[in-house]
Amino acid sequence: MSDKFCLDLTHDELKTWCREKNIPAFRADQIYRWLSSGVINLDEMTNIPLSLRQMLDADFVFGSMTCVRKLVSEIDGTVKFVYRLTDGNVIETVVMRYRTGLSICISSQAGCKMGCSFCASAKLGFGRSLTSGEMFAQVILSQREVEERIRSVVVMGIGEPFDNYDNLIGFIKLATDKDGLNLGARHITVSTCGIVPKIEEFTRLDSQVNLAISLHAPDDELRRELMPIAKAYSLDELIPACRDYAEKTHRRITFEYSLFAGVNDSEAHARALARLLKGMLCNVNLIAANEFPGSAYRRSSREYVRKFQETLETMGINVTLRREMGTDIMAACGQLRRGIEEDKK
Ligand code: SF4
Repeated sequence: MSDKFCLDLTHDELKTWCREKNIPAFRADQIYRWLSSGVINLDEMTNIPLSLRQMLDADFVFGSMTCVRKLVSEIDGTVKFVYRLTDGNVIETVVMRYRTGLSICISSQAGCKMGCSFCASAKLGFGRSLTSGEMFAQVILSQREVEERIRSVVVMGIGEPFDNYDNLIGFIKLATDKDGLNLGARHITVSTCGIVPKIEEFTRLDSQVNLAISLHAPDDELRRELMPIAKAYSLDELIPACRDYAEKTHRRITFEYSLFAGVNDSEAHARALARLLKGMLCNVNLIAANEFPGSAYRRSSREYVRKFQETLETMGINVTLRREMGTDIMAACGQLRRGIEEDKK
């Protein structure tokens, strides 16, 4: 028996498998449609003959992640799922409701190696990278559960997607397949802490996927304190790579900037940030920092956020304020998983 996870298969791979087994091509389309709609249990694939289901069962793993917790926010309808992978690792997925429809934030790894000092996920260390099918499964299983089409995907949950590059690209292929979920590339956003060679590789793909960069500081010294990745890649390398992405793809880059009281939220920081990004097709997304037990950081006051925003705007930078979603269900990245893993211990 193969240990290939059924959702890791692309439509073309499924067609090839059918061809090799002398099964008509339309069967591959039928199976792919079932999988893309979140039906992973072979018994539910009612238009597939039993003999073919048995062949599939012999060649692929059809077990999937299981939802171990589902929380629905009473404030804004945000839904948070905690999924347990087949090997016991736990990940989080969040579905958010916007005026434009549902958006999902998926994890790319169980845990994260990047060690950002302000991040709840980093505190639990690294489990493993997810396969492309496991990233895809979060979208289709959650979509089935909420019974409504998901319009956009952000790869911004637990993990660093560019530390799992090949599976990320595989996921994008699965999510954009015309015969499957059929999401437009412009409806997918990948968020990275700034692994420069991978940003460059991503640029060469010439896709229309949106890129978001976790920046959080306008200078190397402060950024190194907050994010160890800044020791490997300075802003002198990161910012030109981002400019290049924006110029080649014509997509506006988002710079994520969490405001930590007394750390990175002064007017001088705002000015330095505006100078750093000057002239780039981009916007800065200001985030009220995620406070969790044990964190050394506190969020900036509203007054500081407002001043920071004003300074950036006066200096010609587009600014958005990230709306806080699901605050009553700990929807911010990593908080629930952390609770579950600590309970286990
Ligand atoms: S902020 Fe992102 S990259 Fe940094 S440790 Fe957390 S999950 Fe990893």
